[in-house]
Amino acid sequence: MARILVVEDEPAIAELIMLNLRHDGHEVQLATSSADAENALRQALPDLVLLDWMLPGESGLQLAQRWRRDARTRELPIVMLTARSEERDMVQGLDSGADDYLAKPFSPSVLVARIRSVLRRKAPQSLDTAVQIGALTLDPSTMRVVANGTVVKLGPTEFRLLRFLMNHPERVHSRAQLLDRVWGDHVFIEERTVDVHVKRLREALAVADCAGMVETVRGAGYRLARPVTASAGAA
Ligand code: CA
Repeated sequence: MARILVVEDEPAIAELIMLNLRHDGHEVQLATSSADAENALRQALPDLVLLDWMLPGESGLQLAQRWRRDARTRELPIVMLTARSEERDMVQGLDSGADDYLAKPFSPSVLVARIRSVLRRKAPQSLDTAVQIGALTLDPSTMRVVANGTVVKLGPTEFRLLRFLMNHPERVHSRAQLLDRVWGDHVFIEERTVDVHVKRLREALAVADCAGMVETVRGAGYRLARPVTASAGAA
């Protein structure tokens, strides 16, 4: 299940989209103008934005271009939606940073399939597929983490934190980025909260000798490292 922000000013189309995305198991939020969309993104980054081209105020195209320039939203998956169907508009939409493009009128089943395809490519963590790194396996559909054959008991926040880290391994994430991506709304939470939950996560993983996979990168943040030597003989 992905969190999808739908930016669409026409109520009938917005309703049709939201109905179909919810039916496909996604959590949907609606913004009816570009200003609305900016506000929603400031609160929390969704897994994907479905963005209408023609909006009151700034166009969807301008929004997409600006989000691509901002480090926080650069990787945000965007699917553009528009009544324009000429080829040069499509090229412009994709050039502006959209990951895919759909012309109105569209078939709801095609919309749902295209969104799933972009999510698989750019936000696999949103699709409830199990992820394995080294001796560590996390399965979102059963909320289970197994490490070296041992079930690891985690609180909900530690689970979300580990899930995010495992879906973005090797990269260093600052505390602010983790608050943004794992907690969602970081306005009222202090950065040291992250340290508290990382400590709990390591304590839980220590039971299965995996605590070392969550690395502190001094002055930068945290990273989930793939083990350098595979656990030889463990198979
Ligand atoms: Ca519109």
